[in-house]
Amino acid sequence: MKISKVLWKMWKGIGLSLVLLVGTSIYFLYPPQPRVITFPDGKRFAFSIVDDTDLATLERIKPLYELLYQYGMRTTKTVWVLESNEPSHSPNRGDSLHDPAYRAFILDLKSKGFEIALHGVRGGSSQRPDILDGLERFKGVLGQYPAIHVNHSLNRDNVYWGEHRWSFAPYRWIYASVGDRGFSGQDDESIYFWGDLVKQHVRYVNQFTYGDINLLALNPSMPYRLADKPYVNYWFPTADGDNLDRFEFLLRKENLDRLEREGGVCLVYTHMGAGSFNLGSAANPRFESRLKDLASRNGWFATASEILDYLREQPGWRDNLDFRETVRLETLFLWNALLRVIMPAPSPQPTS
Ligand SMILES: [Zn+2]
Repeated sequence: MKISKVLWKMWKGIGLSLVLLVGTSIYFLYPPQPRVITFPDGKRFAFSIVDDTDLATLERIKPLYELLYQYGMRTTKTVWVLESNEPSHSPNRGDSLHDPAYRAFILDLKSKGFEIALHGVRGGSSQRPDILDGLERFKGVLGQYPAIHVNHSLNRDNVYWGEHRWSFAPYRWIYASVGDRGFSGQDDESIYFWGDLVKQHVRYVNQFTYGDINLLALNPSMPYRLADKPYVNYWFPTADGDNLDRFEFLLRKENLDRLEREGGVCLVYTHMGAGSFNLGSAANPRFESRLKDLASRNGWFATASEILDYLREQPGWRDNLDFRETVRLETLFLWNALLRVIMPAPSPQPTS
């Protein structure tokens, strides 16, 4: 009799915990109300690319940007200002504005309407004096400070990176116990501190990348502020087009149909200069095939910061991300990251 009472209590406890867990998950993960945006000139959706400059050389990216221009895209390309000081870490390699031919190419891109953004001042960690120098050089070459900054790999000067990326304390604790530490661009006692300069000069920083093509459905109030990360003015999400396989999978026909139907926003995060987008020295035809499909649709093809500026002026935008949406975005990012680890990269689509 006594044993059955204990068992009954135990089952009640397990049942109650499950109900609590499911209830909390539904509360945090329940999709928010969709936000309807009217895009300029009757366009049906907004599209841009945020191109991470890892491994990018002039030879590799020139044919790719010629194609983007040919198909009417004006996207956002990140750059490094200074040469790498840690080239042994392979993602740090790639051309910088230090190289005259590359600099001329970047200026030509800017004159054609592309946006030039920052990927930290170099591939490799930089202390504050180098960051100040790099930002002034950026302005000297491009005539203005970057509107967008994207953190890079293991740079110690990354802002709110590593465990500091997370706002939801349990995720931060988990990350701090297993992940890489020591990113301190936001710490005013660190030699890598430049949070005040980010606040002063940069409007947007990329926070998380997702597998969903329509970022507006995922995060209707984008771009957003986070109260616990005061040095970043606004954060924005991106969609995962890391290499050509993922780019092609993200921009497959059915996904583009959905983006158009839902009146969505897609900012693809990719590494165009890392090699997968090229076939020999030319652009891979699979890249052109996706651009062709995109360009045939009634999209607003603008730079990432133009799209983000526009979204901030439209009805339904609110400044601060609330706690529930913060937890939701962080959980979905974790989920995406987990799927990326356990699922193989998508197989290439047949070319037309
Ligand atoms: Zn990078």
